[in-house]
Amino acid sequence: MIVEIVGILVLLALSGFFSGTETAFTSLSDTRIHYIRQKWGRRGELVFRATAAPERLLTTVLIGNNIVNIGASVMASALTIRLFGSAALAATTGILTLLVLVFGEVAPKQLAIVHNEWWTVHTVRLITLLELLLRPVVWAISSIAALITRLTGAASSPGITREGILYLVKHAEHVGILENSKSSMVRRVFRFGDVTVQAIMTHRTNVFSLDRETTIGQALQLISKQGYTRIPVYDGDPERIVGIAILRDILLQATQGNLETRLLDIMIEPIFVPETRKIEEMLTQFRKQGLNIAVVLDEFGGVAGIVTVEDVIEEILGEIYDEHEVKHHEPVTRLPDGTFRIMGNAPIYIINDLLDTEFPLSRSIKTLGGYLISRIGHIPAQGDVIETVEGAFTVESIAKRRIVSVRYRPEQQSEDEPQQ
Ligand code: ATP
Repeated sequence: MIVEIVGILVLLALSGFFSGTETAFTSLSDTRIHYIRQKWGRRGELVFRATAAPERLLTTVLIGNNIVNIGASVMASALTIRLFGSAALAATTGILTLLVLVFGEVAPKQLAIVHNEWWTVHTVRLITLLELLLRPVVWAISSIAALITRLTGAASSPGITREGILYLVKHAEHVGILENSKSSMVRRVFRFGDVTVQAIMTHRTNVFSLDRETTIGQALQLISKQGYTRIPVYDGDPERIVGIAILRDILLQATQGNLETRLLDIMIEPIFVPETRKIEEMLTQFRKQGLNIAVVLDEFGGVAGIVTVEDVIEEILGEIYDEHEVKHHEPVTRLPDGTFRIMGNAPIYIINDLLDTEFPLSRSIKTLGGYLISRIGHIPAQGDVIETVEGAFTVESIAKRRIVSVRYRPEQQSEDEPQQ
């Protein structure tokens, strides 16, 4: 009886050895393998070779693990029947499963993941030997598996897919190999082909445009307050854009003293594009036509907004700030009338901290803008009021698909004070 119990314990230990070895080898990163190869000489070289052919290594470990697990269960069953009869088999199954799980799987795997270098270096000789001994078995198993795959018509893996790459990038970011900024950039590159100009344009309500009758002198004054280089020019109604005035041309006229010249005389032909134009095509068009701004038209031919090269490039590189664009804003500013201006990208936890509110935090929604959009289910327009249990938010400004800032009126004030 003692022999059998010792046998079962040895098999359990071996089970732990195999499980741990599997985890230790599969958890090594490429850089770690390189480091081990440099540091551990011959054994490092063996680790490198073993990880270079992971299927062989894994099948060997799997065979070993199965043999010892099945061996342990056979021995435990035989012992149980001899001592207590077959009625006690259920209890043995339960106990053994628990022991295999704890000592044969979970504990060694946790250990191995923490000490993967030590573990691989100290087991690699044995594993290499086992791999050599079991090579015919490994070969037979792989052939049968391949045959089954072929017979069942399972398609061969498509190799690299877009989702696969995106998953890898996300994973790389998660484990700290790739910084968040780079991972976002790669993801944006992949999305580039799907995004339309409508999603990135500056909405018509935020476009600074001038009437075609405006003189150079008047235009200069107005432009100096705005800081834009390209100004849409309209004919009577901002909805009817008929040209684009370029600051350089305006300045040229000014230096020649032609302050009375009207924009009508210097404006150039605009590019009109539908809202549905893909930004990838938009970039090609910008390159071809040599003009860095386009007027976006909605489905009825009305002006929906404008889009510039910078908007398109920002889609990959993230926000770029010009000298005239406002970069830093406090996330929350208290205004004299008791309301608060909150930036749409302010993290919810900061707002909860500062304002003593309890906006819910979730994995996917981290900013106030995200929370408000998810609450109403669409991108709001400027001036929209969004009611929440904590009070009302009035959308102050919107850029592209996000809320730039909102005015917040805490709950207790919303009853006695009128909304702005
Ligand atoms: P540049 O940087 O070439 O001098 P700019 O600063 O006038 O030009 P862009 O850098 O092309 O403009 O664009 C910056 C942002 O300003 C973009 O989001 C763009 O949509 C917006 N924008 C550009 N021109 C106007 C305008 N006339 N009215 C409103 N928004 C504009």
